[in-house]
Parts: sequence; structure tokens; C-alpha cells
Amino acid sequence: MERRNVMMERVLPDLVIFNGKVITVDSKFSITQAVAVKDGKIVAVGASDKIKTLIGKQTKTIDLKGKTMLPGINDTHCHISDWALSRPPLMLDIRFPLVKSIADIVKMVGEKASKVKPGEWILGEGWDEGYLAECLADPDHKPSKEDLDRVAPYNPVALTEYSGHRAWVNSQALEMAGITRDTPNPVGGEIKKDPFTGEPTGLLYEKASTALRAVIPPWTAQQRKEALLGAMSELNSIGITSFTDASIDREKWAIYNDTLNEYFNDGKWTCRVNMMLMLAGFGKSNLDGMKEALKYVGCRYNFGNEWLKVGGAKIVADGIPPLKTAWMWEPYLDGTFGGLVVDGNSAKEQEENLREMIRICHQNRFQVGIHSCGERTIDVCTDQYMKCIEEDPWDARHYIIHSDFSRPETVKKIGEFGRRTGYELALNVQSPIKWTISDFMETVVGPQRAAYQWPLRTMLDNGVRVANSSDAPVIYPDWKQGVQGAVLRESKATGQVSGPEQRITLNEAIATYTINGAWLDHMENLKGSIEVGKLADFCVLDKDILSVDPHEIKDIRTLMTIAGGKVVYDAGAI
Ligand SMILES: [Zn+2]
Repeated sequence: MERRNVMMERVLPDLVIFNGKVITVDSKFSITQAVAVKDGKIVAVGASDKIKTLIGKQTKTIDLKGKTMLPGINDTHCHISDWALSRPPLMLDIRFPLVKSIADIVKMVGEKASKVKPGEWILGEGWDEGYLAECLADPDHKPSKEDLDRVAPYNPVALTEYSGHRAWVNSQALEMAGITRDTPNPVGGEIKKDPFTGEPTGLLYEKASTALRAVIPPWTAQQRKEALLGAMSELNSIGITSFTDASIDREKWAIYNDTLNEYFNDGKWTCRVNMMLMLAGFGKSNLDGMKEALKYVGCRYNFGNEWLKVGGAKIVADGIPPLKTAWMWEPYLDGTFGGLVVDGNSAKEQEENLREMIRICHQNRFQVGIHSCGERTIDVCTDQYMKCIEEDPWDARHYIIHSDFSRPETVKKIGEFGRRTGYELALNVQSPIKWTISDFMETVVGPQRAAYQWPLRTMLDNGVRVANSSDAPVIYPDWKQGVQGAVLRESKATGQVSGPEQRITLNEAIATYTINGAWLDHMENLKGSIEVGKLADFCVLDKDILSVDPHEIKDIRTLMTIAGGKVVYDAGAI
């Protein structure tokens, strides 16, 4: 106490934020009112009248006017470098409710056409006939090439449907892809043609867009860098200040690295990025490929700085439950068990290869995160994690990514292991995905097992750390939907509660997006809560998340986001 007082007297903060409801997410989950920041770090936390005495001539002040402030949010599993390529500025965002009609989309395309050079591609993603006014008024009304030709006669335009199954293009795009009235339908695809004229209408189904994709030029490095910065700004606008990009290859690593070098001093790099390297390759995880990569990759976990670092290695072990490809002990309703997606001629060899990959990553001091959704895969990975730590202990914090069907006995075992050895394992989950698929999963594994999927209560009751995430671009990185989902476990389609016994409390759900993620990043001493000595990463909300009806958590807006003591997003409302 004495020491803290002395510190407060000496410090002249460059930022003081006061008059708020500050949810600190410290070990007692204390609520306070104000924070003082110097050089990007928190130097004092407490009551407004006390903290305000620190304000000096140079101190910038923010009066929260009673608004709620949380630590900056951490999305611990996503693929932001991929997500960034499907977002503005590279692609038009034509999802409902941003657009409500064909006319809205045509207007956006026209605006874009006025800004780009003739011949440059205009791309977009997300249209949905079910939400377009013209199609709703007349189900026979379809989007057409003429709609786009009117506003973009000199640019090829290609707009992908929300599902990815259809493309809506204009005449220029058809011409460049070589698609005419005489082009036959490819296998597995259809070129929609006008029944009277025989001309393509501008809608390409499934494989019919292959010819189109072949002529769309790949993004340049500069476009990818700008896309990354755009993605960081968008994440800031919803309160996120940290994320883990979980599928890093050498190109993505280079883009991150170049973007940091070129834009950090301009203040444009605004998120703390944790990279998980795909040492075992993409698609099928390959032990030989990983061994080869480890010959040349000399970095270890935590290489980098507070803004960009290598967390460890990502391995993909199995598939996903909705497709029945995650490896289970109990069969899916159709009698199949799924399997591993690791190299090997038999399930036994695949498991051995997977265990060896874990072992060499552990030995090389890589924290390991493994995509494991099925109960059997989770058992193999956690068992091998524990063996590696027993034999060669270090602070690895290996974790399971997704963790859908973690069995109660497995969760219990890893909880006990952590308490016994002092080396904990963690489970990464996706509460916002649970919200979208829980009804459908009943048709895959039956209602009982569907209800158990993502057993957050069981995990926390066993003392296992749980970190939440979106897996963007699988789902929009809306952490509020994730918090709401973890607390209510209601489905998106019907509102049906899926596994009420696995609900967690609001404080626990907030922790899965803050302090637990910081621990997973080996940064719990630097972020994840609002405490003296930590990085000044915050988000300010328009409503008090602790007192709103839990059904309204998803509608809470972010008013301001601060990263490293700098305002990186400001809605202009405080
Ligand atoms: Zn993922």
C-alpha cells in the first residue's frame, strides 16, 4: 500500500480515464472508476477522485460519463490474415443488414467503380437473396449482369454469395472468364442462361465459377498489408485489441512482419498479434514436413514483442463435427467415427505421427495448439501433452483448439494434472459457433451429445483454463455474441437452449475473452486485466454488460477502444 502511494505521487500520467464503471477482471473481479496511463502502461487504478489528482498539464483526460470499461478483448483463435482478404477495402461487404436490396448493392458497386481504374476488378462477398427486397417482392426476380453493367461498364465485377456457392458477375467478368452463350455447363456447375435469348444472365453456380476465379489476379503484397491494417481497425471497432492468427505460413508471417516494420511508427498497427506457425503444413498434417521445417526455424515460443510474436505451432489433427470428420469414440448417428487428418497408412500410424509431432514441437520449445474436435483426438493430444511435460517440463501451456467433445473424464484428468505438476493445459472454445450450429448438431450426434458440445461448465469446474474465440472467417469475430452464447447457450435459429447445465456465469464468460486468453499468450502479467503495470488496452461499451438482460449483450456497442494507451477507435459518443 505504502509503495503504491509513493508511485502515485511521482507519476505524471499522459492519460487519465475517469468517471466510469471499470470492470478490472483482476482476481477479485473488482469494479472501480478510473485508470491512469503512462507510456502505454497502467500506472494507477482506483476511485475517480483519487486518480484525478494525478492529472497534470500534459495529461489527456477522458470522462467516461458512467460508461462501462473492460480490458481489451482477446480473440484467441482466428485467421485474421484470411478474414482480412474478404473484407473492405479489398472486397465490398454486401451482407444483410448492410445491404437490403439489389439497388443497394448496385449503388455500392457504382461508388467503387468511380474510384478504381477501368479494367480493375471489383469484388464483393455476402449477398443473400433471402434478404434482397426485389427478390422478396418477386421470387422470380434474380440478380443479373445488367444490374452491374449499368454502374460498372468498364470493370469486371464478381460478387460471391454469402454461402460461397454462387457468383453474380457482370458482362466484363463473363468476357474475361471466356463464358459465352455457347459455353457448356461444367461438371458440378451451372451457367444460368436466359431461356429466351440463351445469353448468360450473370449467375454462376458452384463449379461454373472456376473459370472466373482463374482470371481474378491474386492480391499484391501491398494490398495484403493494407487489408491487415483494415482488419485491425475493424477489430478495434468492436473492442478487440489482441488476437491469435492460427494458420501462419511463410507468406503470412512476412506480410505481418513487413506491415509492422512499415506502419508501426505511423500508429497504424493497432492490435497485439500472436502467431501460430503451421510447421506441419496445411491440409494433411505431415510429420516429415514438420521435421524439415524445424531444421530451419530457430525461434521458440514468445519470440517477438508485445505487438507481434510467435506463440507456437499449430497442428490440425482431425476434421469437424458437422461434417462427421472429427475423430470420435462414440459413433455419429450414421455409424461412422470420423478420423485423423494426419499422414499415415493406418489409424495407429496416424496417431503415432501425431504424437511425434507434439513431442518434437515440445522439445523445440514451441507451445502447441492442436485443432481437435472429436473426443478421441482430444484424448490422444492431451495425453501426449501430459507425457511430454512429465518427461521434459517447461512452461509450455499447450492447448486444444475447438475442444468440442472433451470428455468429462479427460477434462478432470487435465485439471488434476495442472494442480499436481504446476503445468496447466488449456482448452480453446468457440461459443459463437455453438450459437449457430447447436440445432443442426442434433441431426449429427443426437440431442444429448449435441447439448454437451463445448462443455464450458465442466471445464471450469475442473479448474481448466478456457479461452474463447471466433475462428473468423468461420464466423464474424463478435465476442459479445460469444459471451452471450456462453451464458445462455441458446441457438441462433430457434432460440432452443442447448445444454443448460453447461452454462457459465457472465464474469466467467468475460474472463474467457480477456485474462484467460492473456495466459494462453504467456502474457498474463502484461494484459487481460486492468491492473497496475499492465498494458493500457481497454474497450468502452455503451451499456453496462453486467446489468443488461443477457439476451441484449450481443447488441452492446463499442464506443471507444484503446490499445497501448492510444485511442484506436472512437465512435464519437463519449
Ligand atoms: Zn481455425
